[in-house]
This record gives sequence, structure tokens and C-alpha cells, in this order.
Amino acid sequence: MKARAFDYRSVASVPEALAAHAGCAGEARYLAGGQSLLPALNLRLDAPDLLIDIGRIEALRGIAREGRTLRIGALTRHAETLRSALVAEHAPMLTQAAAFMAHPAIRNLGTMGGSLSLSDPAAELPACMRALGAAFEITGHGGTRIVAADDFFLDLFENAIAPGELLCAIRVPLPEPGTRMRFEEIARRRGDYALVGLGAKLVLAGGTIVSARLGFCSVGPTPMRAPAAEAALTGRPLDAQAIAAARAALGDDLFPDEDDSLSAAARMHLARVLLGRVLAALSDAGAPAAIEGAAA
Ligand SMILES: Cc1cc2nc3c(=O)[nH]c(=O)nc-3n(C[C@H](O)[C@H](O)[C@H](O)COP(=O)(O)OP(=O)(O)OC[C@H]3O[C@@H](n4cnc5c(N)ncnc54)[C@H](O)[C@@H]3O)c2cc1C
Repeated sequence: MKARAFDYRSVASVPEALAAHAGCAGEARYLAGGQSLLPALNLRLDAPDLLIDIGRIEALRGIAREGRTLRIGALTRHAETLRSALVAEHAPMLTQAAAFMAHPAIRNLGTMGGSLSLSDPAAELPACMRALGAAFEITGHGGTRIVAADDFFLDLFENAIAPGELLCAIRVPLPEPGTRMRFEEIARRRGDYALVGLGAKLVLAGGTIVSARLGFCSVGPTPMRAPAAEAALTGRPLDAQAIAAARAALGDDLFPDEDDSLSAAARMHLARVLLGRVLAALSDAGAPAAIEGAAA
């Protein structure tokens, strides 16, 4: 199938993008990497009147350390996330997650802002953002507001971006001393969307877990935190007992639906398997890919 006819406009600044959106009498969509939007148009799942290409907006590019924050421009492509030394140093969970996303051709075009704006609950980056405690810079005619990842994802493919607003950047807090983080997923084939994915960020002090943040993908209508499992980990050493307690508690956190590809019970089982695997890798016995300590 082919997309319904639409107008196309390329813009070079955020104000120009906002004005183009506001000036459209019909439906307008921002076009970033096009890796989700263009297939949706071709399948006629969406039929906007105007595409506003934001790909030339320099202000949406770049990865930089700003104080205790890593600021990632919304137009950062998945391939750039994968290659970034700053991301690898301060948020290696994102490096690990990007390696699981689709295939090189898609990673060369798809953007972080596009993935988060789409808010597919099966996508890796939204789950990571919840685990990392990230926040999003969202700009509209009223100015820029900061929305925490925990408040951003509202429902299936729904988020806190109002019509016409642009997601401009992602703010990831730099890890504090004692931070360990990791992303892993279980998929039928490498590059497929995950059956279950998990980003985990733990902070340990004196051998005790003082903070645990877990972000799951593909287990609900949004990327999911797991507060009962996080509570089961907090205040104890990262050992086999803590991992068993977290796995048991996960039943109070996740209630995956049945679907054609997997039963709810099987998905829940995979979530527990993955949680055990990730936590074991973050423990002293595992941990080659985790980071210990933090940047000065
Ligand atoms: C075959 C295939 C396999 C894939 N596999 C995976 C996978 O395993 N994991 C995964 O996570 N993703 C996967 N994807 C999706 C891919 O990651 C996309 O890159 C991503 O979902 C969207 O990014 P984009 O830049 O292409 O956004 P676009 O397709 O350009 O836009 C997506 C939506 O976000 C809006 N938007 C884009 N940028 C902004 C912004 N800055 N502010 C406000 N709104 C914005 C657009 O208007 C549109 O509604 C796959 C895609 C394909 C085609």
C-alpha cells in the first residue's frame, strides 16, 4: 500500500516547527527518523495532512554532559546512542538496549525522541528511561517543561506530549557512586521486539542495595516499573535470597495480557527469568557489564 497524499515541510528550528504545526488546518505530524511513522502511513494506519520534517533542527542534536546530567538531543539516532562514549560511560544501559533495537538500517535512521514520542510499550528505550529516572524536555508555545519519565507514559502509545509540542531532549541523571545498571531482553530472534525486556539500575552502599529501579518492556500497556520487586531488593545485599525475593514479588507488579504470540503465564515466567538473569549479572559474581562507581 502507499500513503495517502500529504504536504511536506522541512523546518530548521524549534519555533519554525511549532509554527508549522499550529498553522496546519488539518492533522500534522512531526517526522524524525520515519522508521515508525512512514510504515504507519504506508499501511494507512495514520493519514495526516502535513508532515513537518524536524531532521534539520540542530538544536535537537548532540549528546553532552551538563553538570550531573547527560543531555541527549531528541534527534540522536539509535546508532549514535550505540557508539557514544559518553552514553557508554554514564548510561551504559542505553548502549546495551540500543544493540537490541531492530537492525542496523533502522538504527541508522530511528531516533531516541521518535521512539519515546511513539511510546510503544514493547520498545527498549522507554523502559530504560523509567529505570534510569530520566526526564524529558518538552517544548510548546508556552515554553519548555520538564516531565519525569515516571509521569510521561500514560497508556498504550499515549504520553504527556500535547498536540503540537516537541520532545527536544532527554535528561539522564549521572550515576551516583555504587551504581550498577544493565539492560537485557528475551526475543525470539535478535532484532525482534522483545517478548520481555528489563533495564535495572541499582545503587549499593557498603554492600547493601539502597535504591532499585526496574523498567520492563512488553509486559503491559506502558513501560512498567516494578515497585514490589524494587522494595524486595532495597535494604539487603544483592545475593541469591534478595534475587529470589524480588522474583517472587514480581507477581504483585506485572499483569501481562494474553496475546497471540505468548500466554500471560509464559510472559510472566519470562519476566521472572529475565529479572533473575539481570540481577545475577549485576551481583558481585557477575557484573562485567555493570558500572561501579560514578563519574566525578
Ligand atoms: C522493522 C522495524 C523493526 C523495529 N524494531 C524495533 C525494536 O526492536 N525496538 C524499538 O524500540 N524500535 C523498533 N523499531 C522502531 C524504531 O526504533 C523507530 O526508530 C522508532 O520507534 C521511532 O523513531 P523515529 O525517529 O523513526 O520516529 P518517527 O517514525 O519519525 O516518528 C514516530 C512518532 O513520533 C513522533 N515524533 C518523532 N519525533 C518527535 C519529537 N522529537 N517530538 C514529538 N514527536 C515526535 C512522530 O510524529 C511520530 O508520531 C522498529 C522499526 C522497524 C521499521
